[in-house]
Amino acid sequence: MTHDRSDALFARACAVTPGGVNSPVRAFRAVGGTPRFIRSASGARLTDVDGREYVDLVGSWGPMLLGHAHPEVMAAVRDALARGTSYGAPTEAEVGLAEEIVGRTPVDQVRLVSSGTEATMSAIRLARGFTGRDVVVKFAGCYHGHVDALLASAGSGLTTLAVPGTPGVPETATALTRVLPYNDRDAVAALFAEEGDRIACLITEAAAGNMGVIAPDPGFNRFLAQTCADHGALFVSDEVMTGFRASRLGQWGLDGALEGWAPDLMTFGKVMGGGFPAAAFGGRAEVMEMLSPVGPVYQAGTLSGNPIAATAGLTTLRLATDDVYARITAVGDAVKDAADKALSDSGVPHVVSSAGTMFSVFFADGPVRDFEDAQRQDTAAYAAFFHAMLDRGVYLPPSAYEAWFVSSMHDDAAVETVLAALAPAAEAAAAAREVRRG
Ligand SMILES: *Cc1c(COP(=O)(O)O)cnc(C)c1O
Repeated sequence: MTHDRSDALFARACAVTPGGVNSPVRAFRAVGGTPRFIRSASGARLTDVDGREYVDLVGSWGPMLLGHAHPEVMAAVRDALARGTSYGAPTEAEVGLAEEIVGRTPVDQVRLVSSGTEATMSAIRLARGFTGRDVVVKFAGCYHGHVDALLASAGSGLTTLAVPGTPGVPETATALTRVLPYNDRDAVAALFAEEGDRIACLITEAAAGNMGVIAPDPGFNRFLAQTCADHGALFVSDEVMTGFRASRLGQWGLDGALEGWAPDLMTFGKVMGGGFPAAAFGGRAEVMEMLSPVGPVYQAGTLSGNPIAATAGLTTLRLATDDVYARITAVGDAVKDAADKALSDSGVPHVVSSAGTMFSVFFADGPVRDFEDAQRQDTAAYAAFFHAMLDRGVYLPPSAYEAWFVSSMHDDAAVETVLAALAPAAEAAAAAREVRRG
């Protein structure tokens, strides 16, 4: 099957947009080839502009918990659209969405924004405003959107001092950022012992999902919350990916709710926008009331709480019942087990890694507990695997460092398509390893 139309669109796109895409990983550079341009999506499936269908394991990078074009979400959106698209004044949908988030998480109040990046950027500003301190701590391999201060890499050697992770971020923007290895309690304890009284907040992915999926070690998030509390710093749990995805109550439902602690601030996005640009940050009332117009910390947005996005998000969360999580658990387990078996049968080193219902497959020997471990992956083997799956009608993330996402609309036929593709794809990965060795 050809992909002439995708290729033609990609050529047009490259002329007018850097790399032909509006977010870098979409460009297929990590796996080679040209991206498929998508014409439509429904349930578990994408259809590209050449008329080819794929079972989707990307789910718009997480939001599509209920699958694409869910009839009830679409009906609610259509109804909202008929009443206008943006007012710049408060609406009932925003209140409903905020109530839904407050009802399912430990936060007292939320502010709605339009992207996860905005949510983490604003949470950090609020933490700095609330504490009157400047230093921010993050973990290597955790991604919090493209916020200057958080696009930071670990400096050389054993120092925790951050260096800009990309040109365009000045050293002054990361001078107050510290970067530590994920799941490393000793590193956290040492840094807080040294400069705990300067630390405004520690931000972590509630479970890492942007270096592939790496769950926090048991008790790790509780340890972070406690360490922050001991030093008067705020604990910011970034649940943009895990929120309403890792479980009905996000990653917090898998640790904090059971262990009896809560983050000071949380960030949300992806699922809560139901496929529209919506995100949020929230926390204890005492902290959130530092925000304008109540308090002095400024934050605003022309399209924040947009009525269409809020309607899609609210409808999605209301439909995200225990049955939905039971289905994505069952689908995820079937895919994980089959991938594990196929890769084992073909002798491809790998680790299947999950956090609640989120999962990914590392093309590396285990264990994988932090970014350094994740970087031992055989990305060429993944690229061969990816293309073999794509050829068989399965759309995986075009990078070895991403979570695989399923939806409640992945029916048995969709799962069958994935399972049937796995054995030949694992063989393709094994062959790619042979070529390099040979
Ligand atoms: C996706 C993501 C973000 C950024 O969200 P955008 O909407 O892409 O800006 C932030 N944090 C985490 C954990 C994410 O997965």
